[in-house]
Amino acid sequence: MSIPVSEAGAVLTIDLGALARNWQALAALGPGAECGAVVKADAYGLGIEQAGPALAKAGCRTFFVAHLSEARRLRAAVPSATIYVLNGLFGEALETYAALDIRPVLGSREDVERFAAFCETIGRRLPAAVHVDTGMNRLGLDLAEAALLAEPGTAALAFEPALLMSHFACADEPGHPLTTRQIDRFAQMRGLFPGVPGSLANSAGCTLASARHDLLRPGVALYGARFVAGREPLEPVVRLEAPIVQVRGVRAGDTVGYGAAWTAPRPSRIAVLSVGYADGYLRQAGSTDRKTGAPVRVNGVICPLAGRVSMDLIAVDVTNAGAVEAGGMATLIGDGIGLDDVAEAAGTIGYEILTSLGRRYHRRYVD
Ligand SMILES: *Cc1c(COP(=O)(O)O)cnc(C)c1O
Repeated sequence: MSIPVSEAGAVLTIDLGALARNWQALAALGPGAECGAVVKADAYGLGIEQAGPALAKAGCRTFFVAHLSEARRLRAAVPSATIYVLNGLFGEALETYAALDIRPVLGSREDVERFAAFCETIGRRLPAAVHVDTGMNRLGLDLAEAALLAEPGTAALAFEPALLMSHFACADEPGHPLTTRQIDRFAQMRGLFPGVPGSLANSAGCTLASARHDLLRPGVALYGARFVAGREPLEPVVRLEAPIVQVRGVRAGDTVGYGAAWTAPRPSRIAVLSVGYADGYLRQAGSTDRKTGAPVRVNGVICPLAGRVSMDLIAVDVTNAGAVEAGGMATLIGDGIGLDDVAEAAGTIGYEILTSLGRRYHRRYVD
């Protein structure tokens, strides 16, 4: 349900070929392990109905989402997928797991007991992942709870533990001591569940041999954002362009936009683009007299934002960009401007830029 280009503000182009190549590059990092894909939050904002089939075509068989509603959408888009739901058990909708062949990731003792009881009720030993905590302190059983579960004769027997998983807190910072501790703890936890496949690696973890285990779980790296500090991201997947709706001259000392936060240091030409924070182009990416905002490419030239990001519009100082006219397009992400450049200007991370990308764009999927 993409908005026609003639009626939209900006244009978001999503390169499914680059997505597939990024998955293949991550899979190649761990030739002994299966490579899955995390497609939670609508495939990090890029569209689960498009990203799911593109990844499946590239060879991906196992997918992770956050919500049961996302699993339902993915099941419709990729009927053969193995699908895990990360956010714990959706206990009011237990029949859905059985009906749609979706696997919960059990993240607490309550989850385990409830799912085991459900399996007993329906008389089927359904598969599920068991999430153990190794230092994130978010979801997952602790060591004592995991040990209890591993004892013969416990509730575990009522369902099939198809995967043992845990999640890194700092693998994106090379050499962080918590990562080593998590790797050690996970190895210890795996000892409790012999024969059950293990999964520990998020995108950053894919780069660490001792973190790969049986199944890789990359997310953000697939979508072209930075996943390890100081390491180049994989291929860009997202391109964001906005039409120039007007170009105007301002005098030195004139201010531009809300709050009069940016003052022209010289006579300037200002291009007004049809994109704003309601499109997920974050307000924090704007510029003021004290802070340079995100870069925008106009006429092939990198230009700075002029003033705050409005809900539906931004202004760009195109004084150095030659002849700029209304009706042309400017590039906000792409052409050498990375997702991470925008994230950095906004004081956030590529993940948040991706998942904020709005629903108002004309979306173009290319291969
Ligand atoms: C989001 C998530 C991932 C993927 O993380 P990236 O850093 O995007 O690669 C993997 N595992 C779990 C449990 C997650 O929540």
